[in-house]
Amino acid sequence: MANNSMDGLVIRSQSGFFTVETESGFVTCQLRGRLKKGPRQGDVVAVGDHVEITRTERDSGVINAVKPRQHIFARQAPEPSGEYLQILIANPDQIVLIFSCSHPAPRFGMLDRFLVMAEKQKLPVVIVANKVDLVGLDQAQSLFGHYANLGYSLILTSVTDRRGISELRHQLRNKISLFTGPSGVGKSSLLNVIQPELGLKVRRVSQTTRKGRHTTVVREMFPLLEGGYVADTPGLKALSLWDIQPEELDGYFPELRHLVSACQFNDCTHTHEPGCAVISAVDHGEIHPERYQSYLKIRLGEQ
Ligand code: GDP
Ligand code: ZN
Repeated sequence: MANNSMDGLVIRSQSGFFTVETESGFVTCQLRGRLKKGPRQGDVVAVGDHVEITRTERDSGVINAVKPRQHIFARQAPEPSGEYLQILIANPDQIVLIFSCSHPAPRFGMLDRFLVMAEKQKLPVVIVANKVDLVGLDQAQSLFGHYANLGYSLILTSVTDRRGISELRHQLRNKISLFTGPSGVGKSSLLNVIQPELGLKVRRVSQTTRKGRHTTVVREMFPLLEGGYVADTPGLKALSLWDIQPEELDGYFPELRHLVSACQFNDCTHTHEPGCAVISAVDHGEIHPERYQSYLKIRLGEQ
């Protein structure tokens, strides 16, 4: 290892240039030639990667190596030359799913799809139900409360009356958080109250990314003053469940997966079979009907 080698974190990626945060500031790096044709399947370097770099000038350098990833959030992107693993972000600690209680009304089908994606990729999830002020706390609980019972972290927030903001800020501290959710739910507003200007910065980057080809890839993550980073995934809502096999789906619904061994048939699809433990639990009110509807829609391939 050369003397001027150092470790860093990739926080920005643009047209082959990577901004790497190191102990001694930001260094703009390109990939060392041999890395470009490395054996790795999929993207060589992504935002969130820990890398080893060599500084060639005061604020520029080359990336020599990428450290093994703890986690990735990725999709199988169809490419003319075959399927390609597109890394949206490397090493995220959690996915923060933002919905609003009203205006727009929550789309639970979309929320459930995000949860399936997160379960598949074994990533912790935080569900944020914003605009509680519009419906009141009781209604917010009855809309979203069952997700907390399933074991997901749930934070009820309101930008208007500052509810839940410190809880959210605490949840983000020292973590890399990937924000996503439909537009209009208050994502920028929440980021702005967490840290002045943060929502504006994130939105600016997302709007430029949206015009590009790989619209869902994270291009930049933003440091939080209290430690940690937030990143946005513009256009993620358009993702379908790219690589989920129908028969693995029940494993990604926490309330279903412990029941499936009790079904009469071991290849039960839980859509119509006699002796199905899932259908019986739905009939007895032990599974939320909307969650079961989401399962059916995904399983039967409806959009
Ligand atoms: P984004 O598209 O998810 O980034 O949403 P914005 O942050 O742009 O917010 C969309 C609209 O919702 C704006 O008019 C905000 O003022 C409003 N808004 C955001 N948060 C709240 C909230 O907690 N309560 C209410 N009543 N309105 C909110
Ligand atoms: Zn079944």
